[in-house]
Amino acid sequence: GAERTKNVLILMSDTGGGHRASAEAIRDAFRLEFGDEYRYASTTLMLECSNRRFCGYVEFLLRSFMIKLEFGDEYEAIELKLFWVVVKDVWKEYTGWPLNDMERSYKFMIKHVQLWKVAFHSTSPRWIHSCYLAAIAAFYAKYFLLFLLLTHLPLNLNRQEVEAGLMEYKPDIIISVHPLMQHIPLWVLKWQGLQKKVIFVSVITDLNTCHRTWFHPGVNRCYCPSEEVAKRALLDGLEESQTRVFGLPIRPSFCRAVLSKDDLRVELEMDPELPAVLLMGGGEGMGPVKKTAKALGESLFDEELGKPIGQLIIICGRNKDLVSTLELLEWNIPVKIRGFVTQMEKYMGACDCIITKAGPGTIAEALIRGLPIILNDYIPGQEKGNVPYVVDNGAGVFTRSPKETAKLVAEWFSTKRDELKRMSENALKLAQPDAVFDIVKDIHELACQRGPLANIPYGLTSSISSLI
Ligand code: UDP
Repeated sequence: GAERTKNVLILMSDTGGGHRASAEAIRDAFRLEFGDEYRYASTTLMLECSNRRFCGYVEFLLRSFMIKLEFGDEYEAIELKLFWVVVKDVWKEYTGWPLNDMERSYKFMIKHVQLWKVAFHSTSPRWIHSCYLAAIAAFYAKYFLLFLLLTHLPLNLNRQEVEAGLMEYKPDIIISVHPLMQHIPLWVLKWQGLQKKVIFVSVITDLNTCHRTWFHPGVNRCYCPSEEVAKRALLDGLEESQTRVFGLPIRPSFCRAVLSKDDLRVELEMDPELPAVLLMGGGEGMGPVKKTAKALGESLFDEELGKPIGQLIIICGRNKDLVSTLELLEWNIPVKIRGFVTQMEKYMGACDCIITKAGPGTIAEALIRGLPIILNDYIPGQEKGNVPYVVDNGAGVFTRSPKETAKLVAEWFSTKRDELKRMSENALKLAQPDAVFDIVKDIHELACQRGPLANIPYGLTSSISSLI
């Protein structure tokens, strides 16, 4: 009936930290907006393509193939070797073997930024990514046919195991927060004859220079975080009626909870008085974190007075090596070193400025908390455009030099407090804390326009069954 619980399915990946944070933001906003108010509660399920590691691999696989397509033999050696690893592990995954070290591929690509750059730009032409994504779609739909042809691997798959996927969740609404999650699910919907019944929207999580795989004309809505991205969407064939510009979805905990800096510092066991700088590098703890930390250790210690003028919080994300390296160092100033933290809003709320790579999630969160930002790195391609977004709007600066970063923070904490304050005000002006609520309300409206959803006839169509 009309009051049946609607299923919302969020498609994401756990590479980095941004996609997960956006997915959580949307889920939480759904709960806050429509949790009890309505007869139905929204259920958000997270599909991680079986699991996070696997997803990283599919993403990587895609990139390496594209390099091959574009550059032929130039990159063959690297690509083939890695491709083999990928294939082997995916195969292992599906036959239930133990796995280790699976997210290495993403990290590998990130570390070899030139390779990533090539992959990012070479996959831009539509014919390349759509052909390849079509192939991957077949793969996702668990046929493995194409895969077999490509790899000649012996196949020993348990179909029950492999069948887990989109259809298991019977979604009424599908929300994609990942650049590679439009084509495949939309193909699956088409094959299932569900295109007209299931609402499909994309929420773009790159602020500016996003990859073209984000744009798919088959979506009901494409939520763009900025006008710049919306322009790109229109150029890429989306209709104006399909796009909306609200901002990047940020977890409601960043704007809804009223947290005082003093209380937070007590809770996090920080010095109550000293100004604090937060140092991080996205979900994977990337960028020149160690060098910057060392430089800050020196610049924030006043030799003449013999005492610190600031304190340092370092969040390493999933980078465990970084945690252990930093813990071995000696410090003259108060320092807290953390791995992956779940309550980022508290750490940001307790600090006075932030140093980070140009991750869109971290930037948008820092803006909401009014933190001036020093950007010290960016992933080529999708993060490059985030730098002018921050710098040109007077909310921060860009420098790759740890020394310069450390000097700047020391100035902000002593002689240039005005500058810090001004940048903080500019940051707050750029912040869009309500974007996530605008997005879920708009999705809700779309759902209402569809009227009461009849039970959606999920199940394999005959054409698909015959393939399996
Ligand atoms: N994050 C977190 N805990 C950590 C490190 C990062 O919750 O220990 C979150 C951070 O708040 C942000 C996201 O992970 O929302 C990082 O996203 P971003 O787009 O900045 O970079 P990515 O890691 O996706 O490259």
